[in-house]
Amino acid sequence: MLKTCSCGETMRMKLRTVIYSSKVEIDNVPVYTCKACSRSEVYTVVKTDLTGLIGKLGAQPEKQTFRFDDWNEWANLLVEAFDVHKKQPDPALIDRLAGERIDMLLDLYSLAEKIGDNEWKNDISKRLTQLSHTASIHRSAIAP
Ligand SMILES: [Zn+2]
Repeated sequence: MLKTCSCGETMRMKLRTVIYSSKVEIDNVPVYTCKACSRSEVYTVVKTDLTGLIGKLGAQPEKQTFRFDDWNEWANLLVEAFDVHKKQPDPALIDRLAGERIDMLLDLYSLAEKIGDNEWKNDISKRLTQLSHTASIHRSAIAP
């Protein structure tokens, strides 16, 4: 959950509120921040989802608040990890949580299939895609 900043210092992952168009607050967005130079950047694997969410709001959004963890499985998992760990969750914990979450979603998926609920199936499969994408990027990022 660490990354090196362009200034050479270590960036830490935090869940932050992103404000869009000075009207929309999006809570629990995973962002890397650098204490030394105050640079911050949105965690790469959630960028597409965040961009998609902002795109749906349009150019003239109403005043509103979102929880990003309701939209993105990875943010959801991080909220849980930060809750357990309070400070910086270690990558092994994230991996374990991701594994458990994937197992749970696969169980739910087969249940949704059994009862023939297509809308639910689509939702679960979207969540699974977000997570497996994340998991592979995460693994390649820590591979030697
Ligand atoms: Zn920096």
